[in-house]
Amino acid sequence: MTGSESARVEIDQTKPSISRVYDALLGGKDNYPVDEKVCEHLRETMPQIDDLAKLNREILGRGVRYLAGEAGLKQYLDLGAGLPTMENTHQVAQSLQPGANVVYVDNDPIVLAHGRALLEENDQTVVVTADLRHPDNVLAHPDVQRMIDFDQPVAVMLVGMLHHLHDDEDPAGVVAGYMDAVPSGSHLFITHFCNSGPEAKETENSFLEFLGTGRFRTNDEILALFRGYDLVEPGLVYLPQWRPNRIVRDKLTIVERLMVGAIARKP
Ligand code: SAM
Repeated sequence: MTGSESARVEIDQTKPSISRVYDALLGGKDNYPVDEKVCEHLRETMPQIDDLAKLNREILGRGVRYLAGEAGLKQYLDLGAGLPTMENTHQVAQSLQPGANVVYVDNDPIVLAHGRALLEENDQTVVVTADLRHPDNVLAHPDVQRMIDFDQPVAVMLVGMLHHLHDDEDPAGVVAGYMDAVPSGSHLFITHFCNSGPEAKETENSFLEFLGTGRFRTNDEILALFRGYDLVEPGLVYLPQWRPNRIVRDKLTIVERLMVGAIARKP
């Protein structure tokens, strides 16, 4: 981040942030010692936790490729977008659909600071700083209204995000808040920490203790988020199993079983 950008946004370097911890796990440089400390704690419980971030980022690319390619979507609402890194949504989507509009939403001001720099010459992509737990506010935001035509199908993306909402923050209600606003033919793309066994439970405890969020939900809880929509093949599966572009071993490792993902179409 340049000096002028860091002056414009207030970044608390004394507390870890979800986006910066994720950046650190991905091997990025947009994080502080307090974020790296959280990563160290997470690695004590789950030594391959960095791989989980990479697996999530990889399915994000494959998912957007599906949405822009096979599903032919031209509008993207990427909620909890995170810091720019490899294969960002707008790069993948606009490589397949050159006219696609992409709105990134994140409540962490560092995302806006870095997004601005990346998007200076892209008038089809914007970064909105907002709390996605309030869909009505996000949907009414002038940039969202300007970029998204709610009469046309929209890709609603909550990738690596909903597990950072506690149960009492009503993740299902948040999903519905966005999906109710988009027409038939829209798609929902979710990846989520999953409760696949004792290691997942230990990793959840570590996330909750050191980052404050990170719910490892059951497959039934995650499937409920897709209720009313048609899952596209192969349904809800562990991340490496969703339309892989390389050979996937039959027996997945523990870290490969810590997250699931799916895309569904609104009928
Ligand atoms: N979607 C990206 C991906 O999968 O690569 C980034 C995922 S990152 C783990 C989760 C992001 O959600 C972070 O950037 C964090 O700031 C953002 N986030 C968490 N709570 C949020 C909220 N209430 N409103 C908006 N963004 C939020």
